[in-house]
Amino acid sequence: MPLFMLASLFCSFLICKVVTVMRSIARIVFLLSLPLAIPSSASEVGSLWEPVGLFHKPITSKTCSSVPANKLNRVPGYKFTYQQTDDCDYFYPSHTSLALHVFYVEWVAKFGDTDGILLSAINELIIEYGTYQRLVARIYGMDGDFRPGQTVVNGLTGNRGKYIFVWIGKGSHPKLHKTSFVHELVHVAIYAANFGEHGDPDHLGEKYKGWTHMHTKFIKDTNEILKSMDL
Ligand SMILES: [Zn+2]
Repeated sequence: MPLFMLASLFCSFLICKVVTVMRSIARIVFLLSLPLAIPSSASEVGSLWEPVGLFHKPITSKTCSSVPANKLNRVPGYKFTYQQTDDCDYFYPSHTSLALHVFYVEWVAKFGDTDGILLSAINELIIEYGTYQRLVARIYGMDGDFRPGQTVVNGLTGNRGKYIFVWIGKGSHPKLHKTSFVHELVHVAIYAANFGEHGDPDHLGEKYKGWTHMHTKFIKDTNEILKSMDL
């Protein structure tokens, strides 16, 4: 091997070594600077739910360079669809995009979307993932049972079907198929069909029309597909 090549190899090896050592020092300094009160893992939810006021507190100490937390990130493949999350690992915009595609394909196969109303709706959606559940009053259960008081919810659809909130769930490996993601998208679809008037908040109840047993089964089937895709 020519001498200059050997020299350049040695140099890059030396630079590499220096960078590694500097990185280690930086990591130790960073860890020492963290207050002990911050939980080591953001997915470690201490209790079943936390008060709403705590929701926007950044509970993660991770550096989220590619998908910053508490900031709107674009969902690829959709015109005006964005997501926000308080834990940068859950869920990635690319995973949201895939799950949305699956939802749409399955919806069209079962219910159709000839005028493209649903396609427009999912192209203009704000999705918020949260590590905390929320407390909401005046809601309905799956059978239309009205709950006037504060109730812990895993997800909700608002702003005339242009916003969904999805709790990422418990455990160290949150998955979209275990969340209310598809359930909320069904509300979005019903909102879109009603031009934003309502998204059938009482589900199978009599007060609002739209939700049927077919929709409940659709959620189960779609979540099975997401599960098989490890989403
Ligand atoms: Zn619902």
